[in-house]
Amino acid sequence: MLIVQKFGGSSVADAEKVTRVAGIIADTYCDNNDVVVVLSAQGDTTDELLEKAAEINPKPSKRELDVLLSTGEQISVALMSMALEKMGLPVVSLTGWQIEMSTNFEYGNARIRSVSTDRIRQELDKRRIVVITGFQGICGTGDITTLGRGGSDTSAVAIAASLHADKCQIFTDVEGVFTADPRKVEGARKLDEITYDEMMELASLGAQVLHNRSVEMAKRYGVNLEVLSSYVRKPGTQVKEVVKNVEQMKISGIAKDTNVARIAVVGIPDQPGYAFKLFRALANAKINVDIILQSIDRDGHNDISFTVAENELEKAFAILRERKDALGYRDIYAEKSVAKISIVGAGMLSSSGIAAIMFEALSDAKINIQMISTSEIKVSVLIDEKDTDRAVQVIHNKFFG
Ligand code: ADP
Ligand code: ASP
Ligand code: MG
Repeated sequence: MLIVQKFGGSSVADAEKVTRVAGIIADTYCDNNDVVVVLSAQGDTTDELLEKAAEINPKPSKRELDVLLSTGEQISVALMSMALEKMGLPVVSLTGWQIEMSTNFEYGNARIRSVSTDRIRQELDKRRIVVITGFQGICGTGDITTLGRGGSDTSAVAIAASLHADKCQIFTDVEGVFTADPRKVEGARKLDEITYDEMMELASLGAQVLHNRSVEMAKRYGVNLEVLSSYVRKPGTQVKEVVKNVEQMKISGIAKDTNVARIAVVGIPDQPGYAFKLFRALANAKINVDIILQSIDRDGHNDISFTVAENELEKAFAILRERKDALGYRDIYAEKSVAKISIVGAGMLSSSGIAAIMFEALSDAKINIQMISTSEIKVSVLIDEKDTDRAVQVIHNKFFG
């Protein structure tokens, strides 16, 4: 079999962990498999590199920041290769540019366009273990890009898809995908399997266990994806197109996102074109708008509230203030201390009343819902940020207690 194995930062944080992970890789290789390994930077390296940059220049160019951030992964692949060499195994480390991991030009959040498999295949043909840097690629000008925080998962899936690997295993510091973050939520249960669609929602709604674009790509190319522990050797969670028992499970998981802010635009003329102008201005600035709520008409005016990522609030607010006259509103307000809590489950397609169960849990806990949004397989609510952890726990208790 051809197996791609990705190990996250905490799994390779120090020499002892690198050696232990080398043992997992060695066992896979010695079972007569071809092995391609994808690694993240060790421990908190990426955060530390960001701090180093900030000490020198709080607003560095994104290009130079990517040159810096990509170094963390290069350290990991070199050290892992040394650990495997020491075990007497044939190994070669490769960086993003060496495997021609080609991306677009969006430094800091680049999207993968293609991966050349030539070099990887040559090395596999020599029966070498190939250890590749996650998180980094190279754009059309030959410059280094990075894929966004947590992006090594996406590197691994892209490489697995290009090689038509038999499986792509994402090793991390928990035993798989749980019904909620097992480090924060009491009673969180490991899922044996989850659909691509549910996992995509959970990842986009704040469950950091997989980078959301990795799941999107796994679905598109039918990559056989598994999330499992690098500490205990047992089966993890299979992420796939169809799973058993969808209807028995009301929901698969709960996620939270605190990188959310709410903007309220008050007193907008209730006439065609005003909502369009408002959201066009934000879209032109590439600001993503999430939950939108419009009040009913009062004296020919209404209010529109919506959420954006908290780290885009300043930019969004500035754009709307600059265009006050053109947009015709009376006032705007921003609120940062909000959080989005979401439940996700394909079971919602076939059973009703699931949102009501979530709302009942919040009501019992006296947590106020500020906004609601739903799709076929998810319900999200906006609440006060201080209630975040309590909200996740009471909703979890309600569905899984
Ligand atoms: P890695 O460094 O291996 O990429 P991450 O920190 O990116 O690991 O992701 C793993 C973490 O995701 C876990 O330690 C856990 O706290 C968190 N997490 C959040 N939601 C979930 C969930 N539903 N299931 C499992 N882990 C989750
Ligand atoms: N090292 C990068 C980060 O910390 C990528 C990753 O870990 O997936 O975000
Ligand atoms: Mg991660």
